[in-house]
This record gives sequence, structure tokens and C-alpha cells, in this order.
Amino acid sequence: MDTSVVRTTCPYCGVGCGVAASATGAIAGDRDHRANFGRLCSKGSALGDTLGMPGRLLFPQISGETATWDAALDLVAARFAGTIARYGPDAVAFYVSGQLLTEDYYVANKLMKGFIGSGNIDTNSRLCMASSVAGHRRAFGEDVVPGCYEDLEVADLVVLVGSNLAWCHPVLHRRLMDAREKRGTRIVVIDPRRTASCEGADLHLAIEPGTDVLLFNALLGYAAAVGATDTTFLTNSTSGFEAALDAAQCEASDLQRVAATCGISLGDLETFLSWFAATRRTVTVYSQGVNQSSRGTDKVNAIINCHLATGRIGKPGCGPFSITGQPNAMGGREVGGLANQLAAHMTFENAADVERVSRFWRAPDIARAPGLKAVDMFEAVGEGKIRAIWIMGTNPAVSLPNSSRVRAALTACDFVVVSECVEKTDTTAFAHVLLPAQSWGEKDGTVTNSDRTISRQRAFRRATGEARADWWAICELARRMGFSDAFSFAGPAQIFREHARLSAFENDGERVFNLAGLAHIDDEGYATLEPVQWPLPGKTTEGTKRLFADGRFATPSGRARFAAVRCEKPASRRSDRFPLILNTGRTRDQWHTMSQTGAIARLAAHASEPAAAISKVDAQALGVVSGDIVRIESERGTVMARASVIDGVTGGQVFLPMHWNDQFTANCVAGTLIPPHVDAISGQPELKCTPVRVERVEMRWSGFWVTRVPIAPDGISYWARIRIDGGYLYELAGPEASPEALQIWRAIAEHAAITVEYEDVRRGVFRWASIVEGTLDSVFLAGPTGSVPDREWLKSRFSGGGALDDAARATLLSGRPAIAEKRKGKTICSCFDVGSLAIAEAIRTHAMVDVKEIGRHLRAGTNCGSCIPELREMIAHESRMAAE
Ligand code: SF4
Repeated sequence: MDTSVVRTTCPYCGVGCGVAASATGAIAGDRDHRANFGRLCSKGSALGDTLGMPGRLLFPQISGETATWDAALDLVAARFAGTIARYGPDAVAFYVSGQLLTEDYYVANKLMKGFIGSGNIDTNSRLCMASSVAGHRRAFGEDVVPGCYEDLEVADLVVLVGSNLAWCHPVLHRRLMDAREKRGTRIVVIDPRRTASCEGADLHLAIEPGTDVLLFNALLGYAAAVGATDTTFLTNSTSGFEAALDAAQCEASDLQRVAATCGISLGDLETFLSWFAATRRTVTVYSQGVNQSSRGTDKVNAIINCHLATGRIGKPGCGPFSITGQPNAMGGREVGGLANQLAAHMTFENAADVERVSRFWRAPDIARAPGLKAVDMFEAVGEGKIRAIWIMGTNPAVSLPNSSRVRAALTACDFVVVSECVEKTDTTAFAHVLLPAQSWGEKDGTVTNSDRTISRQRAFRRATGEARADWWAICELARRMGFSDAFSFAGPAQIFREHARLSAFENDGERVFNLAGLAHIDDEGYATLEPVQWPLPGKTTEGTKRLFADGRFATPSGRARFAAVRCEKPASRRSDRFPLILNTGRTRDQWHTMSQTGAIARLAAHASEPAAAISKVDAQALGVVSGDIVRIESERGTVMARASVIDGVTGGQVFLPMHWNDQFTANCVAGTLIPPHVDAISGQPELKCTPVRVERVEMRWSGFWVTRVPIAPDGISYWARIRIDGGYLYELAGPEASPEALQIWRAIAEHAAITVEYEDVRRGVFRWASIVEGTLDSVFLAGPTGSVPDREWLKSRFSGGGALDDAARATLLSGRPAIAEKRKGKTICSCFDVGSLAIAEAIRTHAMVDVKEIGRHLRAGTNCGSCIPELREMIAHESRMAAE
């Protein structure tokens, strides 16, 4: 490998792919990394575009004014110390993020729990996998993922539950699909929605939201009935089987009734049960569709129960497998980033653990009880119980449920500190102090992925502006609060050593998490650390990629524990007023609240507006067609989105992406709609089951604005912005009749130096363009809804400098070229910028039946492969159309 290339780790999903990066922005997959073996998905491939992105937070700010780090940190320390002195340690909080590196996380946890003496540090991982943590601890005695990625490749059956692996963990999905090609792995998808992961699956069970426990209880009962249970394993290695089986049989022995309640056919149910029972090598992968539920922990345990009953755990190709959404959710779990954990997998419930950590840290004032979990933490902010909060690397004003209430709480809070890479997010708007954080490529430390592999995230660029490492800022606060001795770290290597030593401290095999082998790593060893999976070989542990192979678990008895679980109804249910269920989730090319991926044109091209996916049957009943603007209303609030009527959504449900926020749309923060119902054990909020109503909004005009610089589309009822090559595209619409609309358009136009203009007041048409030194600077076309030409050609005028020739200038306001050009359609392959129209035409022309043929003709799908499920779906669609 070129020595100027640095081996680092992707900062997005929990697959944790290795990246070979150079400061110039050249990005490739790291062939030697055991997570991805050289592959990257569309987001990982576009990482180079995030380097030097606009909108970075460059300097500390106090009340919106640039400040020095010293002034900012002095103020933070004074306000935190003052609040603690007056109201006690529980009046302050840290809300951190699965984006932080393990070293950042470690010192944040140490400061809050060990030295401030409050448990009030929680992380946005609470929204992602807290139910898996709780389920693991209930079943295994410790929060551990038993298997590894390789298990998906050597399994004969892979069940994806509430996991759109194809879009959310694309590289792992590619590994699975490759294995399927080689060994014919069966794939079952259990998801209320027909997602991209269903392309290429053998069976899709579109279960009714909230019926997962019933389905897996039916499986447990079926496995027992057909003799698929592992009696020896049950006898020697588990406890509680009878009670769990009783609970399962009580509610799930009538398969006809189970199928009806789950909303699937009896035949499909029986197929799934028989496949699972008959297939020894089975992996069940689950993700946010399971975790983000008011019954998430029970769902996790219902799945684990089936693996324990059949003894399918700790063996190649077997096991329940929780896949995390974030790059370092696992690292956060290791250091105690969750409010109800202590550190190094130790707990508050065990007084000996508290004493142990207290001795290790020399922290006599250590917190002795858990702090507030995310939803409760912001509730406490709203109630004035928490008066100072430091939010690091996350955007709770968007991502938490009940987001209007979260915003009101932040408005009312005495003192809000936000560390961020990006200056303007929905959350930075509430900050009294803003601290510039280093971004990917600048920061240095470690992350742990979903299969327990620790990898280095390495710096390969100088920090932008005055951005500093989060661990440094936390240690500086600690020093100013009088805790210098415990926070005098010279760098991340020293922090990592302490973290590893704590994991091994008085750990004679009681805790599986043990980094003893890394406790004395020197700086050089840390700098060159290869990806390594824990547990490492040590005094009392054998390094292994599969845990529990010996049938011994981390419980006091050494046995895995069944949980007797029953299918409870979700916390919210449909009503006459709110007859549909809202499901939220990710789209393929965006990441969380878009603060980084939203700045990348080729990623934004995949979805240019917030799309509310509705079934055909509901759309017909509501009088909605694709392209309409719809209002979605719940008991908590209202949002607006563009309707997308598709087959993949089951009647009675709506799907809305979680990403959009006030920086990119007028009003489409999904969290606005969602009530703050949480799982009673894990505290994870229910984000996928909100009763809503949907109605079409009569938009009398619509239009678009393409511009080199961002604008503030004030006064427009509906707008959505994306980055395009050379500028920004705004989609606009309003309910006003044409005279009022003209007022709005003119007000907008006031700010632009218009070069060419066309206005037809009678028809309500308004078009203008601004040309600066021969290049197109801004163009605006609006008119009665449905009358505005496609924006593709005008968008393309902005790329490559945007110089206009005479022919383009002559037809500018028509929105079309003088000589018709082939249209591209929606971007499907973002690596090679291949659109849907070209792909559809190629499929028809060449009668293609395989995605590889599309690759040979158009290159689509031949690089990262993230679009392969959509290419498969397009082939299926064209084949259906041809057959009709
Ligand atoms: Fe990054 Fe994609 Fe790999 Fe996830 S699958 S770590 S987003 S490259």
C-alpha cells in the first residue's frame, strides 16, 4: 500500500469498514480489513467528498460570537461547577453520540460518573440498540454479540428481522449475497415493509407492526413440538426454558390465529417455521425494527429464546446477531456511555462493580445509581431539573421523539453546550456555547463495530479551523473543574491504555469484555494497531470470534437465561382519528440528520425530497397520487412531505425517512410526530409505530429554484433543499392562488440580480434567471402545479462551472435544451451517476434478466454495489410490465 495512504475506518454504520484514505481525498476500501475486505458502500465511497465540506464550525462561539477555546471552556466549567454547587450533580448532563471515538466516550463517562458524581450521561445509541443491550444482559448476563460477520457467510438460513440490511449495512449485505450465490443461503425477511433487502430473499413476512414476539413465540413452540430443540444444551447451559415455552404456547400454539394476528398467510408462517426448525446453521440478524419499540427488549429476547432452544449459538453459522446502526455504538457500550451502565461492562446493580471502578479511578464520589436515559434526560431538561447540558456530536432536536418538546426544553435550559463539526444544525441553534469538533479524517482513536472488532480511526488531515478532539475538550473541562490528576492524558493512546486496563481490572473471567492484551500497548503499537476482535487472548480468556462456544455464559450460574415473554400491543394504536401507522427509518444514501451526507451532491441525488411512502390502497382512499404534497399528522404534531405511492408499503402504514430536518426542509422532522413512549427495560423509544392521519394538501403552485448559494425560502409553505453539483436545488410549492403566489415569487426575486425574466400573471407563470459573467447563477421557475418543466436539464447547467452557450441561454426559461437530450431520471447508481431512465431502457432493449448485464452496459452496480437491490427490483418491474 502507498505509504501516503492511511488505513482508517468508515464513520457511518456499525459494519465498521476499513478505509484506505489519503489527504487529497482519494478513498478506497481497505482490502485487509476483516469487516469489508476492500468494499465500501455508496456512503463510504463518497467519504472523500466530505473532506473540506462547507459549513464547518471553525471556532468556539459564545452566544453566537467567536471566542477563544480558553474563554469558552472557562465559561463551560464555571457554569457546570456553579450549577452543581447550587443544585447538585444531577442538575448537569452529557448527551453524547455513537459517532464519538472510544477514547472520547471513555473520558466523558469517567468525568460524569466518576468525578461529577452523576449518572447523567447518555448517548444517542439509546435510540439505536439499547433494547439489544438489555436483551443481551437479560439472556447472557453481559452485553455481548455472540457471533461474527463470517457467520452470515457460512449459515444456510439467514433471517433478517426489522433490518433493511441492503440499505443500512450494505457491505455486510453484499457479503451475505455473495455467500448466497456460492452456497444457496436461504434468506427470510421479516419486516412490515417490502424493503430493498427483500430483493433476492426467499420469503418476506410483512408482519403487522408489533407482532414480532408472537411470531417468535410461535417459532419457539413449533421448535419444541417438532423436536428441533437441543436437549443437551438446554439441560447443561440454560435456565428458564419451561416458563418461556409455557408463555409461548399460551399465546402462539394456534398457528392460524398467529398468522391472522401477524397479518401473513398460514402457508408463509409454516414455511418460515419449518425452514428455521430444519436448518441447523441459522443466523437471525436484527436491528432497529426490533429495537426501536416500546417492547424492544422482549422482541430481542423472543429471538434469542429460539436460538437458545435450538442450541444455535456460539457455533459457525449460528446465532442471534444484533447489528448496530452507528460506527461506535459498541465502543460506547464498552466504556459505559449509556446512563444505566458503569464502565467496562460493569453495572450499577452490582455494588462490588461500583467500588471496583471507584478504586480504579480513585474517584470516591462516583455515581452510585444510573442516570437518566435519553428521553427522560430531555424531559428533565424541560422540567428544569437538568440546568446545564453538553451535547456532543449529535442532533437531538431532530432525532429524539417528541422533538417539539425537546426544542422547547433546550430553549428553556439555562446552559446548553454543543460540540459539533457543522455550524448550523437544528440543535446548534439552541447552544449558548458552540465548540468546534474534529471530523472524520481529523480525529484519532478507536471504534468497535458490530462484531466486536476494534479498529483505528486515524487522522490524515490537519484539523479545520480551531477544531479540537472531543477527548481534549472534555479533559480541559475536567481540569478546570479541579480534576487534573485523573484527566492528564497526553493523547488517545494513553486513554485507550487506561480503558483496556479497567476492562482487565480484577477480572478473572467474570466479565467477557477484557482488553488485557492491549493494556500495555505502547504509542507505536497503538499507532499501528491492526483491527482486532475482543475478547483478546489473555490470562483467563481465549480470544475467539464466537462467544459461548463452551456453553458457559456470563450469568452468575453460567447458564443462559430464557425470558418468558408475551406479545403486548404497542404503546400507541390506530384510532378513527389516526388510522395509519407511521414507520420511520433510513434511506440508502443519507446518514442520520444529513449534516455530512446532506452536503454531498452524489448522495443527495438518490432522494431529493422527503418522501412519504404510502400503499396504493390507502392512496386511492385518500385521493393521493405520487408527487402530491401530503400532510402527516399525529397527536404530537404535523409534517409535510412528497407522497410516493408504492407497492412496498402494506395498507394501513406510511413510511417516512428519519433524516430530514429544518436545514433541508420547511417542515419534515419525523420526530415531531412521535410520542415519547419507551421500552420499560431499555428506555429505547418507539420510533416505528406512531398512529397518524395523512391528507393531501392542495398546492396551487409549485416550482423549483436552482442556485449556487443557499437561500432562505421564507414564506414558502413547502420546500426541500438538496446539494447538487455546483449548487443547490430547492423544490417549492404553496397553496396560494396565483396573485398571492406572485407576491411571494417577487419577494424572493428581490434578492437576486435578474438577467432574464418571464411573467404571465393571467396563467400564474413566473420564471427568471440570473447570469453572472456568462455563467448561470440562479434560476427560478414556478407556475400552476404540474406545469413546471423537469429540472434535470437546468440542474445540469450548474455543473462544471455553469458557462452558458447561446443555445442554452436562448431556451433557459423554457427549462429545456434547444435539441432534446436523453433524460437521466432519478439517480440509482451514485458511483457512476446512472439514472433510472437509462437503466430501464437498457433492460428493455437488451431483455436483461441479471444485474451483471446492467453493469456490463452501464457500469451501474459494479463499484460499491449499494444499488444492486434497486437494479434487481427494476429488472423485476420491467419483466412484470412486459408480461402485462
Ligand atoms: Fe461505511 Fe457503508 Fe461500510 Fe457502513 S457499509 S461502514 S456506511 S462503507
